[in-house]
Amino acid sequence: MNIHEYQGKEILRQNGVKVPKGIVAFSPKEAVKAAKELGTEVVVVKAQIHAGGRGKAGGVKIAKSLDEVEQYAKELLGKVLVTHQTGPEGKEIKRLYIEEGSDIKKEYYVSLLVDRATSRVTLMGSEEGGMNIEEVAEETPEKIFTEVVDPIVGLTAFQARRLAFNINIPNNLINKAADLFLGLYKTFIEKDASIVEINPLVVTNGDEVIALDAKFNFDGNSLYRHADVVELRDYDEEDPKEIEASKHDLSYIPLEGSIGCLVNGAGLAMATMDTIGYYGGSPANFLDVGGSATAEKVKEAFKIILSDAHVKGIFVNIFGGIMKCDVIAEGVVAAAGELGLEVPLVVRLEGTNVELGKEILRNSTLNIVAAASLADGAQKIVELVG
Ligand code: ADP
Ligand code: MG
Repeated sequence: MNIHEYQGKEILRQNGVKVPKGIVAFSPKEAVKAAKELGTEVVVVKAQIHAGGRGKAGGVKIAKSLDEVEQYAKELLGKVLVTHQTGPEGKEIKRLYIEEGSDIKKEYYVSLLVDRATSRVTLMGSEEGGMNIEEVAEETPEKIFTEVVDPIVGLTAFQARRLAFNINIPNNLINKAADLFLGLYKTFIEKDASIVEINPLVVTNGDEVIALDAKFNFDGNSLYRHADVVELRDYDEEDPKEIEASKHDLSYIPLEGSIGCLVNGAGLAMATMDTIGYYGGSPANFLDVGGSATAEKVKEAFKIILSDAHVKGIFVNIFGGIMKCDVIAEGVVAAAGELGLEVPLVVRLEGTNVELGKEILRNSTLNIVAAASLADGAQKIVELVG
């Protein structure tokens, strides 16, 4: 789960990590009021969307008067911002963060993440701040430093100082930077984050070390114990299909392709996607309805696939074990009946109650292509989609 920059900064502030003063605003009027309240000479008007790269895309404006704040707020609110992280469709700006301007001397990069290779939380930093870290990794990997955290000991002050030293934080500010890293780590652990990225971390001309941007990602499996984090969820920023899927407890991930997949079991879902790929098609989603889905749940899953405009064909691939084929068939028929089915549908059923399931499909008025196996089904849907 993601949150906005201003929400992330609030969490950091509560944990003693230095961030600039700022106030969220939903209208130009609120933006001006916020700027007045801050009372600083320079105020930054920042678009709040769940994507980075806002600066380069014109979503971060430096204002030197209240008139400018108002002008920028009017310009940004309601605008669709396209950054390298939003995809070509962009994201509409609905909130602004009005923040005191920082007198930046130099920008750095620092983040905490779970490194899958070592299964450890890792503190990462670079003196190449403010830019895309993937580019730094590509072009000057020697400028990226990491500290692998022992889960029992936690991030040590020594490691924090070593990172600060490695990324060339000025000597007199090493301790300030190290304290900030320790604060970041504390926040990361306390909130069960999966990523905390500060890009840029800045050193100011007044010798302060400040987190100037904040990107948080939380581990979805731990949200049950973080009601305060769940409250920060902004549904406007999420794919409505994913929201619908999470309501019905479905594992659903939208992808770029054109073939909608309804499958039971994550392994079979992966195999289905691979097989579609093998025959030259591309899946529009990963969807695992789980082992114990009801007809109602299958219906909701099918509706989510149907609501995706990219879907040019659907492949239902079910291996009934605990899941019964007739339940799947009922759900598919109910959803298609409710929403209409205008794209080709290939169904492969195998396992418990398979005959009953096939009968339900036959007796429906749906135009269904039956498949004998996974390979057969994948080939058929790829052909039909063209
Ligand atoms: P994004 O990563 O989405 O582009 P950032 O918050 O990193 O957004 O802002 C982009 C750039 O704008 C920063 O690298 C920094 O140079 C400048 N900036 C952001 N916030 C401030 C601020 N409060 N004061 C001065 N400059 C800022
Ligand atoms: Mg940034």
